[in-house]
Amino acid sequence: MVVGNWKMHGSSAALVELDGIAEAARHARVDVAVCLPATLLMAAAQRARDPIIGAQDCHAHASGSHTGDVSAAMIADAGARLTIIGHSERRRDHGETDAIVNAKLDTAIAHGLGVILCVGESEAQRREGDPAAFVCRQVAASLPAQARADRLMIAYEPLWAIGSGRSASGEQIATIHTDIRRAVQDRLGDQGADVPILYGGSVTGDNADAILGLETVDGVLVGGASLTAERLAPIIAAAARHSLSRLR
Ligand code: PEP
Repeated sequence: MVVGNWKMHGSSAALVELDGIAEAARHARVDVAVCLPATLLMAAAQRARDPIIGAQDCHAHASGSHTGDVSAAMIADAGARLTIIGHSERRRDHGETDAIVNAKLDTAIAHGLGVILCVGESEAQRREGDPAAFVCRQVAASLPAQARADRLMIAYEPLWAIGSGRSASGEQIATIHTDIRRAVQDRLGDQGADVPILYGGSVTGDNADAILGLETVDGVLVGGASLTAERLAPIIAAAARHSLSRLR
């Protein structure tokens, strides 16, 4: 799975990029989703069936007096099929705690959306302590115990790798992904074995092969390099190469 995150970028004119992304996905036979600002969801979903359209957040409540917020039902009504929850930029900019992320995740799944739960440690947490332990605590606290595994993906995104041009090493990713798998299974039981675990943080066409070739990596979450079809296509092609090599 390759998931793009446009963050607070894009306009209706930029949606033309989705046509090229859909073409690359069809050619490679890879599942591709693009998570867009709320204002673009409906137009993007009506444009074509591919790529899968996702949002970047939803409110924890189904509806109510929450000026400026967008509910899971509104996202589904706009035609989006999944949403990111708990991205570190929302945790940072909006003070989202694991408890808030947990409630949002519950609401999103209840409204039929797929969810990409983001977790990851800061540079200081990595330097000072045990990053895997921190990330596993985030997983345990952010995941409702009854979360449906078939609607869930986890993205490991170390904060220091996001937008920095410095992705985590293969060894760092493999170590934490292995611990995340254990934490998901502790929380959800056997069904946790099937939850895809993605990596995110400065993924580009240059490092996608190395990252997607790791045994523990089921896909990537891509920010900057997802804004144009030209930059995302090589990542989609790398995903195709590695899904094929696992089938052989
Ligand atoms: C992200 O924000 O989810 C992300 C991975 O960003 P970038 O690829 O730009 O590091």
